[in-house]
Amino acid sequence: MPEQEVVAVRESDHSSLQADIDTNHHLRVGGCDAVELTKSYGTPLIVYDEERLRRTIRAFHEVFQRERVEYQISYASKAFCTMAMCQLVYEEGCGIDVVSGGELYTALASGVPAHAIHMHGNNKTPDELEYAVRENIGAIIIDNFYELSLLQDIAAARGRNVDVLIRVAPGVEAHTHEFIATGGQDSKFGFDLSSGQAGEALRQLSRAENLRCVGLHSHIGSQIFDAEGFVVAVERLADLYHFGAIELKLPFRVLNVGGGFGIQYTDEDAPPVSETISAIVATAKEVFGRKEIPLPTLWIEPGRSIAGPAGVTLYQVGSQKRVPGIRNYLAIDGGMTDNPRLALYGAKYHAVYANRADATPEDAWSVAGKCCESGDMIIWDAPLPNPQAGDILAVFATGAYNYSMASHYNRIPKPAVVFARNGKAELVVQRETWADLVRRDMPLRGK
Ligand SMILES: *Cc1c(COP(=O)(O)O)cnc(C)c1O
Repeated sequence: MPEQEVVAVRESDHSSLQADIDTNHHLRVGGCDAVELTKSYGTPLIVYDEERLRRTIRAFHEVFQRERVEYQISYASKAFCTMAMCQLVYEEGCGIDVVSGGELYTALASGVPAHAIHMHGNNKTPDELEYAVRENIGAIIIDNFYELSLLQDIAAARGRNVDVLIRVAPGVEAHTHEFIATGGQDSKFGFDLSSGQAGEALRQLSRAENLRCVGLHSHIGSQIFDAEGFVVAVERLADLYHFGAIELKLPFRVLNVGGGFGIQYTDEDAPPVSETISAIVATAKEVFGRKEIPLPTLWIEPGRSIAGPAGVTLYQVGSQKRVPGIRNYLAIDGGMTDNPRLALYGAKYHAVYANRADATPEDAWSVAGKCCESGDMIIWDAPLPNPQAGDILAVFATGAYNYSMASHYNRIPKPAVVFARNGKAELVVQRETWADLVRRDMPLRGK
């Protein structure tokens, strides 16, 4: 079983699997002893290395500043949307992307000003659009013709002018898992570029009195490692940008290339996101220069690449089962309710025991959740030391699309979340209780 992994990954900072190990062999996150954290806050527990969250965002800023271009980093809050996280990313100079009324509510409740918030979604409800217009958020990214006319009507009824972008499906295949790929032509998202839908949307917007179309957006997928998809998307969008800005004279100033920057979960060879951003900036400079159009403000929308690597989930190990000649299972006190990503699309993870983080793997152990579903698995065949009940399993790179996708299946309460920094931990989401689970239940006939 590979034992080199824990050591090798310590070397590069952009790795998701940095294992900071104390002299007492305990895993440390944000300078805090992970085992002590579970004693204080219980398990399952999601711990974010707060300094790492901030460092990642600062590295993104540095790329744009080095390139001397106008830019905006808008955190895709769906990756992990809580008030503390919204506060943190705004403090670090990011805008916030939301895709629902609930995410918008969270961002506003955290004190982020409305102008820094942008709303996405392929089926924003009339109520959600009303809410966004009422709060006067920074921009709404229009996904389809239905939304275009609905939003025009809502804005007109309120006598408001709304800044919008259109989401374009540029027909680019991002190199990623097919179930999380978007932006190809066969996608539920956005106006199709090649069939002329996107151009038609811009024509309609040039006549929509209450909508100011300030630019174009595309999001070509998720967990992307290769900058080539972004490069092709920028090239295609530049033609449409030219059409909108020059022929239709729309007040264009933004080119938003979305998010999707890949991170390391296990053995992927993940280039630093800064390299991908540099490639996008270089392409945009070159293509817009060639067309003699001033370079628009470049927006990116990272979600996973900010939140993912900084999060670790801590579980207590309970039961075990060896199926002779077939597989070994160990079970944890969480599962698909706090991390459905393996069940949804076969996600892979790296794990260690936080209480003996540098112990040598002895066998392959598949990590099972406690839900009544055979598919409730977190890792298949992880190289681990043989487990003992009470071991604390630490699963790395669980900061994105874990808590935000958590469910109450089997009436399992959602875990607590802490931010750890300089050896101090701060509770940012309380653990749910069983009482929380029945709070909205109504007894039959009021009894
Ligand atoms: C999900 C999403 C993102 C963020 O994707 P990541 O893979 O988390 O970086 C950005 N923009 C849009 C429109 C999205 O839907």
